[in-house]
Amino acid sequence: MKLNIAVLAGDGIGPEVTHEATKILKAVAEFGGHDFTFTPALIGGVAITAEGTPLPQKTIDISLASDAVLLGAVGDNKFNALPPNERPESGLLQIRQHLGGFANLRPCLAFAALSENSPLRPEVTKDVNILFVRELLGGLYFGEPREWNKTTGRAFNTMVYTRDEVVRVAKIAFELARKRKKKVTQVDKANVLECSQLWRATTDEVAKDFPDVTVEHQLVDSMAIHLMNRPRDFDVVLTENLFGDILSDESGVISGSLGMLPSATIGGKVNLYEPVHGSAPDIAGQGKANPLGAILTAAMILRHSADLEAEALAVEAAVAEILEAGHRTPDIARGDTKATVTTTQMGKLVHEALAQAIDREQAMHAV
Ligand code: NAD
Repeated sequence: MKLNIAVLAGDGIGPEVTHEATKILKAVAEFGGHDFTFTPALIGGVAITAEGTPLPQKTIDISLASDAVLLGAVGDNKFNALPPNERPESGLLQIRQHLGGFANLRPCLAFAALSENSPLRPEVTKDVNILFVRELLGGLYFGEPREWNKTTGRAFNTMVYTRDEVVRVAKIAFELARKRKKKVTQVDKANVLECSQLWRATTDEVAKDFPDVTVEHQLVDSMAIHLMNRPRDFDVVLTENLFGDILSDESGVISGSLGMLPSATIGGKVNLYEPVHGSAPDIAGQGKANPLGAILTAAMILRHSADLEAEALAVEAAVAEILEAGHRTPDIARGDTKATVTTTQMGKLVHEALAQAIDREQAMHAV
């Protein structure tokens, strides 16, 4: 398997966590005889410093020529005075536009060893494994017309979707559900919004092509409650941009730390993979960053760009194993855990657990 990965490490803890994620990908390539290449490119504050722009043309070219883009994080306080379109964060918005992905995937995994980090009771979060599929390019965030008229004191935005925009993201959700527990929960506000009625009708239409997948609809207000009361009941959650933004962040409390959350944006020219967290300037350069969100993001590259499902599962299992063994970065440490480990040590522990799992697998096949 050949995979050319553009690595846009970015600012703050971005390079620290991306380094650990690429080490895991290199290990998977080495163990499996795959040919993964990694091409670094600048984005964010480091790109402003080196090239005077948060997204140099060279970075766009490298990204578009790759099979997958792995992004760390962008954001640096020293550029806070710049106008929004010149700040590091605008590099992120621009690269998302260039790559054109419209389906944002946000897994919500509950690691048993971290159950105490969630404000929810362990029996509620046990075995939760939800995949949010959020439409990313439409709806209220992009709809026109939009305005804040300071003279009249009136502001408005437009929530708009076309049938085609719903069909393409719904198909992705159903295809992914087919590889999981075969259930899609589509979330809307169809009791009030026409836009949501279009979503509901179109999802039902797409569902006809996936008779093996169960479809259900939930209103977004009820869903916010169900996610906290019975998150285990959900498999793939399909929803529009605004509702997906809010619900996927809400579900972050199930995993217990921002540093644990991976994401991918697919459907465009090249898939973009990034941990959910930002550049965390408060802990950058101190070895305190949790690399597990970035490592779980690497697992998503294996699953969605390399079609290496077994390897993706092995990386996720290695993460679960080192958490079970009690290893913690400071953000996930609680009371009686062993002394905390650094970013690099955490990466190394996952690497070792992965190597041992592969050795065991190979030994089994040799018997
Ligand atoms: P943040 O995610 O960077 O940090 C929020 C809090 O969580 C901080 O206390 C931080 O130390 C902690 N944290 C985040 N990731 C962690 C990790 N992997 N391990 C341990 N602790 C972690 O959000 P913020 O502080 O609001 O923003 C900081 C900068 O990042 C800003 O410039 C912001 O614009 C940018 N940002 C970028 C992205 C992105 O690149 N995708 C996302 C969000 C924010």
